[in-house]
Amino acid sequence: MESENIDFYNLGFEFIETKHMFLSRYKNGEWDEGKIIPFGPIEISPGACVLNYGQGIFEGMKALEAKTGDIVLFRPEKNAERLNESAKRMLMPTFDEQQFVEVVKEVVRANKEYVPPYDSGGALYIRPVLIGSGPILGVAPAEEYTFIIFTVPVGPYFPEGFKAIDLEISKKYTRAAPGGTGFAKTCCNYAPTMLPAKETKAKGFAQIIYLDASEMEYIDEVGTANFFTLIDNKLATPALKGTILPGITRKSVLTLAEQKLGLKVEERDISYKELFEESCTEAFCTGTAAVITPIGSVSLEDKKRVFNNGEPGEVTKKLYDFLTGIQRMEREDEFGWVVIV
Ligand SMILES: *Cc1c(COP(=O)(O)O)cnc(C)c1O
Repeated sequence: MESENIDFYNLGFEFIETKHMFLSRYKNGEWDEGKIIPFGPIEISPGACVLNYGQGIFEGMKALEAKTGDIVLFRPEKNAERLNESAKRMLMPTFDEQQFVEVVKEVVRANKEYVPPYDSGGALYIRPVLIGSGPILGVAPAEEYTFIIFTVPVGPYFPEGFKAIDLEISKKYTRAAPGGTGFAKTCCNYAPTMLPAKETKAKGFAQIIYLDASEMEYIDEVGTANFFTLIDNKLATPALKGTILPGITRKSVLTLAEQKLGLKVEERDISYKELFEESCTEAFCTGTAAVITPIGSVSLEDKKRVFNNGEPGEVTKKLYDFLTGIQRMEREDEFGWVVIV
């Protein structure tokens, strides 16, 4: 879509085409130099490994217009690192991490006119996607790969202000099992979550809280966001044990809670039962898309726990202000997280 036809003040999270994308191909054991090309369809063999066996991984990032007018990224080197962790699990070639950050910047510059203005609260969402594009018949990794980075302008996650969401704890579905691919941002982890999400939305919930697949007792994640809760005034989040996606927002929130709010933080097993105790006073989830989303209530079958009358908690609000303040350069970037495009 032409950028002059976009109403940047009323964007949601729909797919909107921008002008350019990055494309690089891997063949005979090496990546080509890659280039920025017009956004558009790519040709792919029906035998492509990604189409038949799901050999694909992705990342999610945002370019923001900061208060200063600069276009900025948030810890992009962490996305580069994680893409390669996902690649290794899926037997895919890795991509040079410094080059990753450089080409992400190039794609953003090429689509600069699509970065929503600072006062709209929107962002240019960046989607790097790496797929096994070579044909293969037996279940084995492809020999050829395609790496694409495209962008989509998106609106603020909270168009009507900072609002809490209601979640359902599922005892029916799981997301990732020990020994599986939960820690990797692989395409095959997401299609199976669409049915549970649809069912819970039909019941009026925003998303599912997934429990661990072995005991159905400990919290793993919230759909595509990491989970946090304040218990006895300590901030707890599930420990990374291979079934949880190591969120960059999660990592940043742990740092902010400890160093800026002086909170004790814990990465541990959290039983869903703890959420129903009085000592548990706040809960929220984190992600590039969700930023920090307060959780107003959690429900399991006919049991419901409401936090703080369904309003965002104090710690949740403070963390949101710190994180978004740093991301938009309204606060000092003392951890060196912001990268100017
Ligand atoms: C991407 C993702 C997250 C959030 O990670 P961020 O790096 O904070 O964006 C959390 N859980 C899942 C399952 C994800 O795919």
